[in-house]
Amino acid sequence: MSIEATDEVLAGLEHWRAMPAAHQPTWPDADALEAVTSELREWPPLVFAGEADSLRQKMAAAARGEAFVLQGGDCAETFAESTADRIRNKIRTILQMAAVLTYGASVPVVKLGRMAGQYAKPRSSDLETRDGVTLPVYRGDAVNGHAFTAASRTPDPERLLRAYHHSATTINLIRAFTQGGYADLRLVHDWNRGFMSNPAYARYEVLAAEIDRAMRFMDAAGVDFEALKTVDFYSSHEALLLDYEAALTRIDSRTGDPYNTSAHFLWIGERTRQADGAHVDLLSRVRNPIGVKLGPTTSGDDALALMDKLNPEGEPGRLTFITRMGAGRIRDVLPGLVERVTADGRPVTWVCDPMHGNTITSPSGYKTRELATILDEVRGFFEVHQALGTVPGGLHVELTGDDVTEVLGGSEEVDDAALASRYETLVDPRLNHQQSLEMAFDVAEMLRG
Ligand code: PEP
Ligand code: MN
Repeated sequence: MSIEATDEVLAGLEHWRAMPAAHQPTWPDADALEAVTSELREWPPLVFAGEADSLRQKMAAAARGEAFVLQGGDCAETFAESTADRIRNKIRTILQMAAVLTYGASVPVVKLGRMAGQYAKPRSSDLETRDGVTLPVYRGDAVNGHAFTAASRTPDPERLLRAYHHSATTINLIRAFTQGGYADLRLVHDWNRGFMSNPAYARYEVLAAEIDRAMRFMDAAGVDFEALKTVDFYSSHEALLLDYEAALTRIDSRTGDPYNTSAHFLWIGERTRQADGAHVDLLSRVRNPIGVKLGPTTSGDDALALMDKLNPEGEPGRLTFITRMGAGRIRDVLPGLVERVTADGRPVTWVCDPMHGNTITSPSGYKTRELATILDEVRGFFEVHQALGTVPGGLHVELTGDDVTEVLGGSEEVDDAALASRYETLVDPRLNHQQSLEMAFDVAEMLRG
């Protein structure tokens, strides 16, 4: 039997249209946008309500300290780089980090890709000027092209259809890799193949050997390995483009409740988290687990207003606060916020984004970050939660599985001169494969306390 949504629920899903919506593209042609969204509304969901429900339960476990969330992927995915190799490398990096955290800290890891839909970006300015020419800023492949020409920079709603297709092929590959045997923990050594020569990889090999020994022990003891053959790997992105997100919001026939079927987990960015804004309104009406980014100026009242809107009943796992304070401020500003939220009593999952508060411009002019500063924010996050007796529930990172040179530092030191050699990101700098592994080893130690 299929349960339908009430008229009230359906009407509620349209409320955002009358509310202020920050960071939306200026689409040149309303009819073209309407044609695209009507088409999208007919296309199949990319994820299923039951999967979002399972993730919500895992996020609840992370809030209680019974699991740890690892959310990672590009700042902005691009259509050109949605290739099998790039996607596999990212999955592998996240699986390796998860193995380090699981084994190193004896905690289950909730794996959440910043993948299969991360195609839209809020930008600090609407326009960009180069050599006297001013054009609309790049807003992500779902909106316009990165090439600096008027044609490419004009927002094109057809790109929403391409974003859907790339999301579908990416989630398909994620499902194949993580359900088809590639993620089997008995392959931990294989994931490291070809990477042996530097300290992070050597450290990983030692850990993989220990995992192997544990596996042989369990095998000898008659443990059933079926559960180790597959992993649950969820998708997430910033729910920024409301026309797209609304078109993929569907009614679950089991319950009559709305779910956003563009990803398992959606987050609202620091720049669009106004409690009376359109983004918060639309996501307040779906059942998925939801995140909100909180920057250093977030007040206790802001956080409480978000809880009132997004999780009034205090459902476990529903709401995650992803703090991105900056290494220099986290120890000062996070405690007050956590205390206010904790005093309220409704649960939230606390996740640390150590990337977005620590962006700098290098002497040679690259937008970059330093690994040491990033790790310092994570350390501050653990210190604050440990001091307050609250739970550091997870980590949100911009990373890639490739050997790019976008973030400074690491044991195979990327210095300012090296940034130019493989700086590929179109928006924010990402940890490379090796820096990601290093981070996982450090965080495993912090998790052990
Ligand atoms: C991002 O995650 O890429 C981003 C823009 O973050 P924030 O909303 O925290 O600035
Ligand atoms: Mn970013």
